[in-house]
Order: sequence, then C-alpha cells, then structure tokens
Amino acid sequence: MKKTLLTLLLLPFVVSCQTIKKETREKKKYAVEKTEATWKKELPEMTYFVLRQAGTESPFTGEYDKFYESGVYACAACKTKLYYSKDKYDSKSGWPSFDQGVDENLEFDVDYKLGYARTELKCNTCGGHLGHMFNDGPRKTTGKRHCINSAALTFIPDTDE
Ligand SMILES: [Zn+2]
Repeated sequence: MKKTLLTLLLLPFVVSCQTIKKETREKKKYAVEKTEATWKKELPEMTYFVLRQAGTESPFTGEYDKFYESGVYACAACKTKLYYSKDKYDSKSGWPSFDQGVDENLEFDVDYKLGYARTELKCNTCGGHLGHMFNDGPRKTTGKRHCINSAALTFIPDTDE
C-alpha cells in the first residue's frame, strides 16, 4: 500500500525527467557540426568509428594507453582541449585513463548500450564520443576513471619546458 502511494507520488517526477531528457537530446546543438559524410572523409577510420559511431578500440592497442608525455589531449576531430597529462594514470584497463578532465569541454551523457546506465563522455564542442566514466578511479583524488579511446584524442606536447 505504502509502496504504491510512493510510486504514485514519484511518477510525475520520473515522467517529467524523461521528457526533459528527451528534449535536450533532440535539441543539443554543437559549436562544430558536420555531416557524417564529411566526418568520414576527414577522420582516420578508427577515429571516425570511435567519435562518430561511439565505437570502442580494442584494449591495449591505443596509441596513448602507455603514454605519459607531458602535455594536453585534445579532441581528435575539433581540437578542443579535453584532458591534461597530469591527470592521466595507469588504470591497467588497456585504455588511457584520467581521474578528471576539462569539465566545461566535456559532455556527460548516459547510454544504455549494455543494458544498464553508464556515463558516456563526449566532446562538448562537436559531440564526438570519447569513452565512459566509472567510479573506480584513484581514491586519493576524484575516485573517477575517465576511460577514453586513444583514437578520440590527439596529443599536444608541452613546448615550453
Ligand atoms: Zn570535438
């Protein structure tokens, strides 16, 4: 009885949240937008697969998995700065991992591809898929793990060292 009442009380909130979510999904406009045909022409195959088709590169194969130079990681498509090398750590997952990113340049979305909700990370400038965020990151910093595909990134080394 109590449970039913609670469900009824919560129902309008659930419904309205879903409506809002749907609207933002449809309305989301990015500063950089190109047709899929143009992206396909401009980007390397694996980069296109990851960024535009939300694909995942095989673990331990990416260019930046075991890569610890000092610099900044930008979106491979639109060159927006997304991650700093100081926040990169070895999660041993096989993908570049960061405990935080440049939040204002990231979009935190949700995907249900595996049947449950995961936080999907996207470039907030072009909407390109980068990877996912998990809660098994380093406890002593953020506790978050941004699991990012190498193919989605391009590395810009620090030059003034
Ligand atoms: Zn981008």
